Amino acid sequence: MLQAKLASKQDGQEKSVIRISDRLEIGGNEIVIIGGPCAVESSEQMDQVATELAPAAIQVIRGCIFKPRTSPYSFQGLGTEGVAVLDEVRQKHSLPVITEVMSVEHVHAVLGHVDILQIGSRNMQNFELLKAVGQTDLPVLLKRGLAATLEELLMAAEYIMSQGNQRVILCERGIRSFDPETRNVLDLGAVVVLKHMTHLPVVVDPSHAAGKRELVADLARAAVACGADGLIIECHPEPEKSVSDARQALSLADMAELVKSLKPIAEAIGRRLVNTKPNFSVVAGLQSGHQISETVVPNRCRA
Ligand code: PEP
Ligand code: MN
Repeated sequence: MLQAKLASKQDGQEKSVIRISDRLEIGGNEIVIIGGPCAVESSEQMDQVATELAPAAIQVIRGCIFKPRTSPYSFQGLGTEGVAVLDEVRQKHSLPVITEVMSVEHVHAVLGHVDILQIGSRNMQNFELLKAVGQTDLPVLLKRGLAATLEELLMAAEYIMSQGNQRVILCERGIRSFDPETRNVLDLGAVVVLKHMTHLPVVVDPSHAAGKRELVADLARAAVACGADGLIIECHPEPEKSVSDARQALSLADMAELVKSLKPIAEAIGRRLVNTKPNFSVVAGLQSGHQISETVVPNRCRA
């Protein structure tokens, strides 16, 4: 067993609660819901998403501008042009925004304009990228690799934390298996095991696990029942027209219905959904606060 000194749960250690904004945290009693399209397509699209999701008790908006696609000929995302769209939506709607970064340059491009950095499955072991996000002061959602063990996931978290950034949120998004009926196999056992292995919050992504919109709600409810600290779910104003991952996208109305249906499940296990709009304001400073440090300072701000 490799040693994840910072990510592992020590005897008697409490779960870590990670601050996302001044009113929103994850890892406590409240279950955080992240929703939005796979890819940012336009400012109008993101405005509609935020307008409809905010009153439906969705606390964080997702939308990727750098897209890891299997084919180099598929839409690759709006790229740096999309940064302004993300910034606009978070400011106008007072909602934190999460987006994926695939390179150190991407990290620099989005710093100060987004609230959570996502490391996608395909980059879970891109160690230079992990070190770079570890040198920022933003929360990082670290997605489990398509065929990564939980030990490898924790060691990837350790890369980030050893650079000084303790705000790591793990994400189970399904692992590769043999049956194409689902895009991936949602490993809910991992959610339960991770609670014993680590103090870090665990979010579940039923969208990329299922690959089909009709499977997403049931998997989301199961994830809450087994102890997930949050969900990240793809939804779109016109799901069939999504430029990426259309088959798994929920409509905004279905997303709102799904969130409603989670309430009794959360309560049955002694937890709650966040039911107020978080009235977000940025913790660490919008314009100038976020920087990647020049030098690597291991364990700089170990909590
Ligand atoms: C995504 O969140 O859109 C995504 C590409 O996820 P994953 O890295 O889990 O495939
Ligand atoms: Mn996607």
